[in-house]
Amino acid sequence: MNLKQQYINGKWVGANSGNKRDIINPFNQEVIATVPESDELDTKAAIAAARAAFDDGEWSSTPATERGNIVRKIAELIERDKEELARLESLDTGKTVEESRGDMDDIAGVFRFYAEQADKNGGELIDSPVPNSISRVVHEPVGVCGQITPWNYPLLQASWKLAPALVTGNTLIMKPSEITPLTTIKVFELMDEAGVPAGVANLVLGAGHTVGAELSSNMDVDLISFTGGIVTGKKIMQAASVNVKKLALELGGKNPNIIFADADFDIAVDQALNGVFFHAGQICSAGTRLIVEESIHDEFVNALVERVKKFKLGSGFDKDTQMGPLISGEHLAKVEEYVETGIKEGATLAVGGSRPEEPELQNGFFYLPTIFTDCTTEMSIVQDEAFGPVITVEKFSTEEEAIKLANDSIYGLAGGVWTNDIVKAERCVAKMRMGTVWINEFNLYFPHAPWGGFKQSGIGRELGNLGMEEYTETKHIFQNLKPEAINWF
Ligand code: NAD
Repeated sequence: MNLKQQYINGKWVGANSGNKRDIINPFNQEVIATVPESDELDTKAAIAAARAAFDDGEWSSTPATERGNIVRKIAELIERDKEELARLESLDTGKTVEESRGDMDDIAGVFRFYAEQADKNGGELIDSPVPNSISRVVHEPVGVCGQITPWNYPLLQASWKLAPALVTGNTLIMKPSEITPLTTIKVFELMDEAGVPAGVANLVLGAGHTVGAELSSNMDVDLISFTGGIVTGKKIMQAASVNVKKLALELGGKNPNIIFADADFDIAVDQALNGVFFHAGQICSAGTRLIVEESIHDEFVNALVERVKKFKLGSGFDKDTQMGPLISGEHLAKVEEYVETGIKEGATLAVGGSRPEEPELQNGFFYLPTIFTDCTTEMSIVQDEAFGPVITVEKFSTEEEAIKLANDSIYGLAGGVWTNDIVKAERCVAKMRMGTVWINEFNLYFPHAPWGGFKQSGIGRELGNLGMEEYTETKHIFQNLKPEAINWF
């Protein structure tokens, strides 16, 4: 068994309590590693290390170019260990190794992007209204950052937080999801190797209600960056109010994908499938709400169903596998309940709706790709995130109706429009209330472009320059070069 540790103040240590947690392979339920189960005491120790490194250490005053060089080195080490990291991610999450290799390229790209941005955030001179003075704006680190990530894209989500926090001179405590911590642990080894000083980046392993809650409510933490579900996000907002922490929240999505009759039919079918069933639908930006124009609805659904029936489910390590298992038995049960609700609500099950029957899949948390038709916005399956391999299909007859359906959600993370009429596409995107809208594309993102949600999908942005701004405070400095008495009093 592979025993891991947490990383506090530059040292690999066990949990104060001695408690441990087994990490399970979702393909066969075998134990793949054992990690410390930290609690509030471990978290406080990590926060104290990060606080001291920020207040008394040199990281925040290290030249930005040097911080950028260390972050670039992390990117290089991730590229060096890409295969090992990709296999570890697949073991931990069940996703295909091919998909994990793509994740690792993206992750190295995120560290590289922020390494390049490190010394391009120098501030600006303001035209001062006062003669003989200098007015300037500088960007400074926020301080001690708590970072909490989910299980679906463990290392990718961590990279979106680690890289911008480091280049801007913050210190941090990361808490990965308790069920998928392995690649994050490995990257902390690489950060150590790259020369991140002791205390600057700390890793605590444990549950949300202990470690996560302590990070959110601790007075010595200045910022919380959280990616996860809406219910947890709301709890964190409340806890963070204790010292008015800065907050960055990347919450869920129930993302509409509008298909007009004049779209390229085959490409739209293909991308509608990719937009949802990648990583078994466990993607915040999955296009799970298909909104299809009436005149092509039946043909479109038939084409989806025919393709879905041929999906190959299996081990992420089998090169023919297209879709792996869900993350856990608990999550599988939630997806099953969601599908049962859909049936009760009167939606039509066009395909799927059960666990697969193949004997070789029985030890894993597999669920068949599922499509519901005859869906309406009143149904909870159209409103709630399934976070599994399930699509709901709604029908529309006018452009206005399509937009209305698309916006009828508490979420506003992402959405797509498929049409060859570019004027119509622009009319639609202008009205769609989401942080990212794709035209004739779905689920594409890259480090240069901001990512985040409107409405209850979150607060703030990750990636791009905005993702870096989340980790800085803005200071205005005014210097009078010729001070004079005011003589008012
Ligand atoms: P979750 O909210 O259950 O857990 C996320 C993290 O929060 C975990 O590390 C967990 O331990 C921690 N946590 C739980 N309770 C906590 C508490 N009281 N205080 C502090 N931390 C706590 O989410 P999940 O099931 O791991 O991930 C799935 C969710 O994440 C989905 O809703 C999905 O849409 C969302 N997500 C969003 C994005 C995005 O970019 N917007 C990306 C990935 C996932």
